[in-house]
Amino acid sequence: MDSLRLPAEPPSNDTVERDFTVGDVPGLRSPASDADRAPMFDVIIAGCGPTGATLAAELRLHDVRVLVLEKETAPKSFVRIVGLHVRSLELMAMRGLLERILQHGRQRPAGGFFAAINKPAPKDLDSAHAYLLGIPQPVIERLLEEHVIELGARVRRGCAVAGFEQDDKGVTVELADGEQLRSRYLVGCDGGRSTVRKLLGVGFPGELSRTETLMGEMEVGVPQEEIAAKVAEVHETHRPFWLRPFGEGIYSVVVPAAGVSDRAEPPTLEDFKQQLRTIAGTDFGVHSPRWLSRFGDATRLAERYRVGRVLLAGDAAHIHPPIGGQGLNLGVQDAFNLGWKLAAQIRGWAPETLLDTYQAERHPVAEDVLDNTRAQMELLSTEPGPQAVRRLLTELMDLDEVNRHLIEKITAIGIRYDFGEGPDLLGRRLRDIDVKQGHLYGLLHRGRGLLLDRTERLTVGGWSDRVDYLADPTAALDVPCVLLRPDGHVAWIGDDQQDLDAHLSRWFGKPAT
Ligand SMILES: Cc1cc2nc3c(=O)[nH]c(=O)nc-3n(C[C@H](O)[C@H](O)[C@H](O)COP(=O)(O)OP(=O)(O)OC[C@H]3O[C@@H](n4cnc5c(N)ncnc54)[C@H](O)[C@@H]3O)c2cc1C
Repeated sequence: MDSLRLPAEPPSNDTVERDFTVGDVPGLRSPASDADRAPMFDVIIAGCGPTGATLAAELRLHDVRVLVLEKETAPKSFVRIVGLHVRSLELMAMRGLLERILQHGRQRPAGGFFAAINKPAPKDLDSAHAYLLGIPQPVIERLLEEHVIELGARVRRGCAVAGFEQDDKGVTVELADGEQLRSRYLVGCDGGRSTVRKLLGVGFPGELSRTETLMGEMEVGVPQEEIAAKVAEVHETHRPFWLRPFGEGIYSVVVPAAGVSDRAEPPTLEDFKQQLRTIAGTDFGVHSPRWLSRFGDATRLAERYRVGRVLLAGDAAHIHPPIGGQGLNLGVQDAFNLGWKLAAQIRGWAPETLLDTYQAERHPVAEDVLDNTRAQMELLSTEPGPQAVRRLLTELMDLDEVNRHLIEKITAIGIRYDFGEGPDLLGRRLRDIDVKQGHLYGLLHRGRGLLLDRTERLTVGGWSDRVDYLADPTAALDVPCVLLRPDGHVAWIGDDQQDLDAHLSRWFGKPAT
């Protein structure tokens, strides 16, 4: 395995849960015979961040044997409040997780995120969940990890993937301590510095970081009105800069890092104070930091999302500045796109090209997110040119269509996958419409396809083991029938059984005999 092994990280003796491994079974260490190399798991996921945990949950809905390997022995402790945007909230609702998550976050208006331009979202945004949920990242990670364990996935902490080798039957994964595990597929959800991506040799082209920014959460020593007035004044000339209340007296503080602290060292409260004084003339009496971080604006996209039996998702496949709060959302949405396709491959009903549609659909989405973050970073520049563009865009955002376009981008509800010619709804996600049993998303908890039939004439026939059927002439749709994929995207629209059967085959493989 030498050719696919990175320099070992310190071996961890702190594995929280042990699982059965080649090494546990006497005589099954290398050299392995073909029989020995039979996969013990269907999928090994490297990384139990938001992407890895979501993917594991999606796979478990289809009874796939999943092992999640996480290099850290304990969940992250530093608190960073992230925003879950509309599409991610919808996906959580589709799997019955939203209520659980909502209790731990704060709902905020959906608008004001594009380059921090303060414009409210259009009132009639096309979603039943038209808000942003601010939630600490460790909390969302803990909820997702608990959920995958409830669904039956194995999570082993203190296990870093250090090498792997794939053959035509599966992947042998090697941990930092030399232990070997075997699975049919490996998915690298191991973050921006992904070991899996590096070992695969997949290119990660893009731009190096040019601007460093300090970001943290802390308490302040002056009244909110005073802060708001000062922030508005400073915003005339300085970006990125903000102090935003997050409730309970906590403020999110963002200031340029230029000139303070050593990049190799974590930032200090004094660094924040110094930058605030330089830019705003006051440090607002900031104190009691919850967490302090420093991030750059490196922007990179993996050239490929799949090489044989090894795939990439989340930050392992794309990185970009956090402006607009899209990274976690993008990774979670990758996982929803990939989960059912990989499960179909493992269950044996996937049409030949289904797994490749993961890259075909998600790579362009990531390209678009990278581009919008590039644009937003330009709009934060204090140079006169970008400032003029920012003023112009601020004016343009008074036009409903412009504002709507940008917000649909950031919230990911504007995504339309290319499924070929057809009505505008084809390839888009369907909102949580009312149906006779209540809400559409309530019918999607099991991660299966769904035919929603207003004509009451059609059938899913031999696909009923993969696709549910709901006849409902009252459904709030202006087309006769829609076929939904497990990720909630519209795969077909029509009223003809033969045409439907062709599309059921396209997405869900051959009918059961
Ligand atoms: C300041 C800041 C603010 C942000 N705000 C937002 C926001 O508001 N909204 C938003 O959507 N996004 C936001 N993001 C981005 C978001 O945090 C990331 O996009 C998200 O964490 C990516 O999730 P992931 O699961 O793909 O990767 P990660 O969260 O990086 O998780 C990867 C996991 O893999 C593990 N791992 C690494 N190597 C190995 C290995 N070899 N073997 C096993 N495990 C391994 C790591 O320990 C980690 O747990 C922000 C980022 C920053 C820096």
